[in-house]
Amino acid sequence: MANEKTSDAGAQTPVMRQYFAAKEAHPDCLMMCRIGDFYELFYEDAIVASRELQLTLTARDREKKQPMCGVPYHAAEQYIQRLLRKGYRVALCDQMEDPKLTKKIVRREVTRVLTPGTAVDAGLGAEQSNWLASVAASGEGAETRVGLALLDLSTGEFRATEFVGATALAQLADELGQARPAELLVAEGMGGRTAGPSTSLRFAQDDKSTAGEERSGDAFEGVRTRTGLEDWVFTAEYAVPLLRKQLGVLSLEGMGLGGHETAAVAAGALVHYLQKTMQGGLEHIDAIRFYAHDEGLMLDAVSVRNLELVEPLFSGESVQTTLFHTLDACATPMGKRLLRATLLRPAAELKEIEARLDAVGEAVGDLRGREAVRRAMNGLLDMERLLGRVALDSAGPREVMALAGTLGCLPGLREAVEKFKAKRWRELGGGHSSTEKSTEISTGKSTDPSTGFSTGFDAMEDLHELIVKTIVEEPPVNFAEGGVIRVGVDAELDELRELGRSGRQALAAIEERERQRTGIGSLKVRFNSVFGYYLEVTKANSRSVPNDYERKQTLVNAERFTTPELKEYEAKILTAQERSGEIERRIFAELRRQLLDAAGRMRETARRVAEIDLLACFAHLAALRGWARPEVEESGVLEFVAGRHPVVERRMEESGGGRFVPNSISLEGWFGDSKEKSTGASIALITGPNMGGKSTYLRQAALLVVMAQSGCFVPAERMRLGLVDRIYTRIGASDNVARGRSTFMVEMTETAAILNTATAKSLVLLDEMGRGTATYDGLSLAWATVEFLHEKIGARTLFATHYHELTLLEERLARLKNMRVTAKETAGGIVFLHTVEAGAASKSYGIDVAKLAGLPGAVIARAREVLKLHERAETQQVGAALSRGVGEAMQMTMFTPLSQKIVDRLAEVDLDGLTPREALNLLAELQRELGAGS
Ligand code: ADP
Ligand code: MG
Repeated sequence: MANEKTSDAGAQTPVMRQYFAAKEAHPDCLMMCRIGDFYELFYEDAIVASRELQLTLTARDREKKQPMCGVPYHAAEQYIQRLLRKGYRVALCDQMEDPKLTKKIVRREVTRVLTPGTAVDAGLGAEQSNWLASVAASGEGAETRVGLALLDLSTGEFRATEFVGATALAQLADELGQARPAELLVAEGMGGRTAGPSTSLRFAQDDKSTAGEERSGDAFEGVRTRTGLEDWVFTAEYAVPLLRKQLGVLSLEGMGLGGHETAAVAAGALVHYLQKTMQGGLEHIDAIRFYAHDEGLMLDAVSVRNLELVEPLFSGESVQTTLFHTLDACATPMGKRLLRATLLRPAAELKEIEARLDAVGEAVGDLRGREAVRRAMNGLLDMERLLGRVALDSAGPREVMALAGTLGCLPGLREAVEKFKAKRWRELGGGHSSTEKSTEISTGKSTDPSTGFSTGFDAMEDLHELIVKTIVEEPPVNFAEGGVIRVGVDAELDELRELGRSGRQALAAIEERERQRTGIGSLKVRFNSVFGYYLEVTKANSRSVPNDYERKQTLVNAERFTTPELKEYEAKILTAQERSGEIERRIFAELRRQLLDAAGRMRETARRVAEIDLLACFAHLAALRGWARPEVEESGVLEFVAGRHPVVERRMEESGGGRFVPNSISLEGWFGDSKEKSTGASIALITGPNMGGKSTYLRQAALLVVMAQSGCFVPAERMRLGLVDRIYTRIGASDNVARGRSTFMVEMTETAAILNTATAKSLVLLDEMGRGTATYDGLSLAWATVEFLHEKIGARTLFATHYHELTLLEERLARLKNMRVTAKETAGGIVFLHTVEAGAASKSYGIDVAKLAGLPGAVIARAREVLKLHERAETQQVGAALSRGVGEAMQMTMFTPLSQKIVDRLAEVDLDGLTPREALNLLAELQRELGAGS
């Protein structure tokens, strides 16, 4: 495309030649070219940018064949961030020399490529990590290996994992759905591969028009931008040594990457990309951690979305519907990020959960201690991100001072934490060393003992002191102004400053003296960067200028002069300034180096601060809202008394919308030989009117489990919980119309995933399953699914349904119980009570709800008539279905209840004992029945 334009004679100015060269080197970026005080975009880039940023599109030429648009350079940052957030890549083509100092055309080069995954600006959402992800894959089928590396450049957190086997890609999709990386790196060859769906990653082409807020329909819906890299980047020969070099290690074993080459390749490719797009400043990326993705309570991407753990179900809705928002009372950005990560991956290990609950419990009972900890975290800034900016050399003196302010709070925090006694508090805060291998709260996984809790809380007093002793209390924003480094740090610097000061005093004296001598009251000594110091006299006064003045420059209204004396001072001052600027920069660079050397310490402390913050937040909420400590145990129980949905309850309180009606539940999953022994129900089948509270009840159960296993107290009078390994939450298809696949297909794919992977320790929520298809199909599938969960899986299951017929299952399935949300029929229509009690709903109230919604009376009346007719027919049919044995029904792939009844009759017939006449009669009877039924 560029070629076509270059042949255009009008485009061949020197600036445009520079532009085309830059664009050719970075064809996938929006090229922003610095011209004067603007960053300009041209051609297609200009059209895109004007659309996305609502900029006026102009043209370089009269024929309007060269569209362009621009943004002022000082406001560029904000425009660039908007483009990145929409999923674009941006390259900056900067002026490499000062235009004032050159007569020729200014040299321009691409100085930086900005991408969604490498953005590190202050505008990043504090509670969210900004992940750059990289995926490498090898093998096929059962031999598939998928490596995933994740880096948050703003904090330096770098980790990798590996998925193995036939389901590797599905697992990857779940992991990506949780991490929601801003940008994903993938081999170009992989992106275009069209092999069978199970073995191919099937990355859709990066479509700019759908990038941004909208959710794409493919499996990797958390990913905003996909960046293809050449295939060779993802080879072990290239990527692994590159990774080793970046991390400064000879072997990756120590970081847990031994035997995980695919993960190392993904990580190496990521490093390659950083080097390609950034100019240096990657010192803080000095470690990577291998993590096991299958530890902790697993939540697949669909469940995370349906439960609204961190994001509202429909993009654009208020975040207030999320559990994250409801639980976020964290004081620091680090704590917020950990809360988010924890809700996405609660713990699944009893010891870990108990440790957290113990710590929270102690703080709940100790108001003063709790408040002391929370107060000590007031004003703690984002240490991890500040450190990141220091590393990327984008931190000015003010940011370093901000870091110092934060470090200054740490000793107080340690002291406050030390007052607590619970084991986890001691591990986090104390100088009390614990040699035991500890676990990380965010993932519930073991950490390397060398970076674990063994060293005590490092409050980094030394670094704090280093900074405040080096930098002045209120440094200027801009380094060029000077005066960043404190007096007393460097003797030469102090001397030069003294020189500069006396020089400036001398200049003031010269100005005063010359005014007197010439009698020109308006004479001024001035400075500019091109001409240096000069004496300025207005045109009107130029006749009074003495002979010893040397003319430097003539302006419209004034003339500028110099004198030998002035020149001498000028030289003195300028060299002093230049030299002291050099010294300040050198000292600042040294300081930066020292801070970076302590990056590991700082990250470790930040991690502890995050955990302290999270536990204190949980304790604060529990005390404030009167939540109870859940009893977590190794069993199949799920039981709560007077439980409330934390988010709905909170929202009702805030809006004054009445009181949330508490509900209870008691379920028990069965595993192994407990199938026969267990008497408790494992499946609750919930019926009742639309709007009665079924969905709320289901989600409440899941949210309480997520909270309990995160180490948080729960909104219930009492809760008993046998550890859950996975939570599945599915919503009937019609709610998902926006996703571009057949909604019923989506629903069935999701259900298949449950039936294939759920275990006896899982929690399964099925809400209105089968809604996306014809009644009998839907009913039959729901029926068979319930049976399968009951007989083969044993998972604790909540099944909300509008299929009334399913309540008949209670008679056949020992561990299924009917529950209903209650409604009261009054003269004015139905009233929802929102209580859940044992029993099947007597009717579905659909028509009553329709009446509430204001459907015309005639339609309501007619609907009641039609309903009666249908109900009669349906009872017959389902009665027939019921008479089938469960095991047989499960083998049947297709059946219609009525013909099944006839098949049953046939099966029962004793052929040997049948006379020809009886046989004929039977045939006639069956035929009659068939005729009557159809
Ligand atoms: P269903 O799934 O049965 O159609 P929902 O769970 O969607 O019903 O709930 C319908 C409405 O009732 C929602 O607005 C919800 O906030 C409210 N609601 C549900 N459960 C309760 C409860 N226990 N107490 C108070 N309001 C509730
Ligand atoms: Mg519902």
